[in-house]
Amino acid sequence: MQRSREGISFQIQHTQEPLTIIARRKTATAIVGGVPVGSAHPIVVQSMTNTDTGDASGTALQVAELARAGSRLVRITVNNDDAARAIPEIASRLADMGVSVPLIGDFHYNGHLLLAKYPATAKTLAKYRINPGNVGGKRRDENFRTIIQIALDSEKPVRIGVNWGSLDQDLLTTLMDENARSTEPREAKEVYIEAMLQSALRSAFIAEEMGLGHDRIIISAKVSGVQDLLEVYRQLAARCDYPLHLGLTEAGLGSKGIVASTAALSILLSEGIGDTIRVSLTPRPGGDRTEEVNVAQQILQSLELQSFNPQVTACPGCGRTTSTFFQHMAEDIQTYLREQMPSWRERYPGVIEMKVAVMGCVVNGPGESKHANIGISLPGTSEDPRAPVYVDGKLRVTLKGEAIVPEFLAILEEYVEKTYTVDTAATPGY
Ligand code: SF4
Repeated sequence: MQRSREGISFQIQHTQEPLTIIARRKTATAIVGGVPVGSAHPIVVQSMTNTDTGDASGTALQVAELARAGSRLVRITVNNDDAARAIPEIASRLADMGVSVPLIGDFHYNGHLLLAKYPATAKTLAKYRINPGNVGGKRRDENFRTIIQIALDSEKPVRIGVNWGSLDQDLLTTLMDENARSTEPREAKEVYIEAMLQSALRSAFIAEEMGLGHDRIIISAKVSGVQDLLEVYRQLAARCDYPLHLGLTEAGLGSKGIVASTAALSILLSEGIGDTIRVSLTPRPGGDRTEEVNVAQQILQSLELQSFNPQVTACPGCGRTTSTFFQHMAEDIQTYLREQMPSWRERYPGVIEMKVAVMGCVVNGPGESKHANIGISLPGTSEDPRAPVYVDGKLRVTLKGEAIVPEFLAILEEYVEKTYTVDTAATPGY
């Protein structure tokens, strides 16, 4: 275990090379608490807590959960004195837990006041998120400059995060008025998008003018509609080379939020746009906040951009498999893999690339199993009660009886140890 304030101390493995070559849009690299964000580096999964930040203990626990799930950066609301005061304590509790994920402060309305009043908080946070639409009315520029000055003094990067729902109203009004006077007025939505882009880019210009490095700025411009997000980010990507934080805002509950985020992010990522991603899901009461991390990782893994976990290919089942045995087995194997991963990641770094197939009958079972590293084809209805196991495309054994699952897991464990153990003696300097 590596203890460090920069990055993640318990060494979640992230593939350094993308599996599929997608030409990323070239960007500068911003370093956020030791995590590089930019086109020369793997896309960074991040998340946000939903605890009361003033509750340092509860927030630290949730940050740790998110980090352990694979979130490489975690954003926290800093909305009042209690929250600002709690940040150093949260960091210290995380250090005690052996977790050293960079913390990002999310500021609206009073960020200039809180950062100035709590220097330890300004120092502890690895990045400040500023929404230019929410830094004050008449004193907007002055407040924005105050935050940038603190970022300069503390040597921190910032994210200039524009949001459709909190757009700079003065700028929008100005652009709308100009549009109304134009001989060829544009659609209102186009003006909205232009206002978002100008708000972000003008703020970045002011920050750079004050001396903040070009490589200390990340930009986002979030909206809640998929097609609008594509339009905004394509234009943003064409007009600057700052690293971009991608995410659909207010994506929604359950499958709606997952599908909408996946649709939007997959298209942009496939076009090479996006350097860090967050999937904003509305959790069900008592729901698991780490779901947003799992979904973000699954998007990157499904696009074959990065690997995070072994993949289980399970057939959906049909009339050929009337028992639920194979559904239970697929679930048991998935659970087993998930439980092993914290220790496997360190012991067997390459295991994140492994593919496991759990198939329900002879129709596609043997074929799909042969394409996986290790696969099992269970007996369908009225087939012989036998389950052939394939290892690296070859039939290894045919299992029978009541102990198929534990026997298959034993073969799986043996395969992982044999295939993914790192030969430390043969690795100079390991
Ligand atoms: S592998 Fe067999 S059980 Fe599974 S979906 Fe295909 S036909 Fe149905």
